[in-house]
Amino acid sequence: MARHTVTLIPGDGIGVETSAAMQRVVEACGAEIDWEIAEAGAHCLETEGTPLPDSTIEAVKRNKVAIKGPITTPVGTGFRSVNVALRKTLGLYVCLRPVVSLPGAGGRYDNVDLVIVRENSEDLYAGVEFEEGSEGARKLIDLCAKEGAGTIRPDSGISVKPISVTASQDIVRYAFEYALKHGRKKVTAAHKANIMKYSDGLFLRVAREVAKEYEGRVDFDDRIIDAFCMNMVTDPSQFDVAVFPNLYGDIASDLAAGLVGGLGIAPGANIGKEYAVFEAVHGSAPNIAGQNKANPTAEILSAAMMLDHLGELEAAARIRRAVTEVYAAGECLTGDIRNLTGSDKPAASCTEFTDALLTALAK
Ligand code: ATP
Ligand code: MG
Repeated sequence: MARHTVTLIPGDGIGVETSAAMQRVVEACGAEIDWEIAEAGAHCLETEGTPLPDSTIEAVKRNKVAIKGPITTPVGTGFRSVNVALRKTLGLYVCLRPVVSLPGAGGRYDNVDLVIVRENSEDLYAGVEFEEGSEGARKLIDLCAKEGAGTIRPDSGISVKPISVTASQDIVRYAFEYALKHGRKKVTAAHKANIMKYSDGLFLRVAREVAKEYEGRVDFDDRIIDAFCMNMVTDPSQFDVAVFPNLYGDIASDLAAGLVGGLGIAPGANIGKEYAVFEAVHGSAPNIAGQNKANPTAEILSAAMMLDHLGELEAAARIRRAVTEVYAAGECLTGDIRNLTGSDKPAASCTEFTDALLTALAK
């Protein structure tokens, strides 16, 4: 088995606890990982003068693979979002979020097995905004009126939603290639092309074009995003791989996580042509940070995705088996899951839950 060096960014809030738990599990699963710790987030603003030090980006570039906890973006630092800045700098154009039922996790369904593929670089996340009353906003409002593009009230703040052919092709193609590689049958594109003809309409057109290249190998259909949400809630088993522009993908990820047991168990990855950064879907949850209450499952399952990416398939499978076993046993689960399942058994701490995983791994 090869040794791998991985950059570990513990992040803010519960990230410190979930990252420590994740490290213990990865160390026990048989993979040989050397960790290079790098800091990012609100807590390193004081020590480093920035929430995203260059040395952290360099560390990710050096090792090509990273796993990170959640990062809070402090206000007034010149970053709209450190997470978005990291994704942009590293060219991580894909956000991949598998959503799989975990029996015992309190989900609404036990037959969900789908993959969310979210575009990660543009749409309303591009950060192109004009403040209400600014010179830029005034110019844009004038331009829209002059071009006959529509009337915008003068007291509006404006966020721009760019969707390009290039990024849409890249993300849809990734979804189809993923489907082929993982034996999945269908890709669904979600959009609001009936209302936003030039942005979502373009996304849908490109998705249909790319789908033709895969005809006979992977099926394709599309849904308007509101219908997609309703369909997800009524019957998520109808979806296989679903591809989204950035914002809809963000919302659909939380919706899907909620169907199978909540943010505590939802893993993810940000993937580019050169680098990959694995991270849970959840944020820093400051309300429970530092209390040893966080559920580390999401970050641990993100580590399993990372091990797959590194070719350590057996180690990844071992982690998933241990997680499945501990949830099915139901004896040692964190408070978020106890709340969902309505169980009156005591909530396990982050550490106790991790101990239970190590016991399962040792079998
Ligand atoms: P951020 O601003 O960093 O996104 P947030 O307050 O929005 O932080 P999230 O992590 O996005 O927090 O999650 C919302 C809520 O869900 C949290 O406040 C917490 O109660 C719960 N939650 C999220 N992740 C976990 C977890 N891993 N374990 C337990 N509870 C969690
Ligand atoms: Mg949040």
